[in-house]
Amino acid sequence: MARSWLEFKTDAWVQWCPGCGDFGILNAFHRALAELDIDPSNLVPVGGIGCSGRITYYVKGSNMHALHGRAIPLASGVKLANPHLTVVVAGGDGDLLGIGAGHFVAAGRRNLDITIILHDNAVYGLTKGQAAPTLPSWWQTKALAGPNLQDNLNPLLLAFASGYTFIARGYAYHTNQLKELIKEAIRHKGTALVDILQPCPTYNNIMTNKWYEERIYYIQDEDPDWNPVITNDLDFKEKAPVILEKMVEWGDRIPLGIFYKDIRKDTFEMRLEKVMPGYLSNPPATRPIDVDGKPIADPWIVFRDRIVRKPG
Ligand code: SF4
Repeated sequence: MARSWLEFKTDAWVQWCPGCGDFGILNAFHRALAELDIDPSNLVPVGGIGCSGRITYYVKGSNMHALHGRAIPLASGVKLANPHLTVVVAGGDGDLLGIGAGHFVAAGRRNLDITIILHDNAVYGLTKGQAAPTLPSWWQTKALAGPNLQDNLNPLLLAFASGYTFIARGYAYHTNQLKELIKEAIRHKGTALVDILQPCPTYNNIMTNKWYEERIYYIQDEDPDWNPVITNDLDFKEKAPVILEKMVEWGDRIPLGIFYKDIRKDTFEMRLEKVMPGYLSNPPATRPIDVDGKPIADPWIVFRDRIVRKPG
């Protein structure tokens, strides 16, 4: 029998503003985990700093709350230590695409099997509504003293350019569709991004629920033959221009759904197994670290033998 989503609910008091899109994301996340039948003891949600990062208090697992912008490297370390865990990062566009942008890019280059849930609300909600990386230029949300002078960043394009192998976009208040996208992202073997358009009713008075509902549509609803799966290089060559066209569409119409799923690449864990046979069956987290109280694990040896070239 499938798990109940209540198994993933914690007793923590949920501290988001009334009507915040984060509630929808939490609901979809809980139900996705239940339907995937994930054991909470094998789940590691890693949150960044911001309203979004609080989601880790509300989901049962071995949770971690990272420094600002550092959720991805922390999650990467967890996954490397034990590749059998389900690791999910939750962060805002300010956290993951601002101070954490370098880590966001590096994640794509590695293709670790982790899922990144991007709470994309275009403002720094926790610190009173400053302009975040996805707020378009010349827009002035209510906490700003003047219009935003910086251009906005497209998370889908950045993920595509960085090498992410699964890229999707959902809407926070469409919890059923969002649940399915999160499930697909977690099932995918490789680094997966789910960009979630998330209204912040307290500080973003432009991108409201009404604003989104007038614009969003599901790619698959309009194009039942839409197939974003890339199985070989020819596939990529043929499909990439159409996928990119959908990724840049923004304004009067905003597409949602799975944009890209590349199954050609090895995960980072598979690459490690090639240079360190036995890594997957006996990863660092399950190895003994002492014999009779004497430490036997030496990270320096791994560093010396695997990362830097041996002398001579
Ligand atoms: Fe949600 Fe915005 Fe309130 Fe933060 S400030 S909890 S993002 S509504």
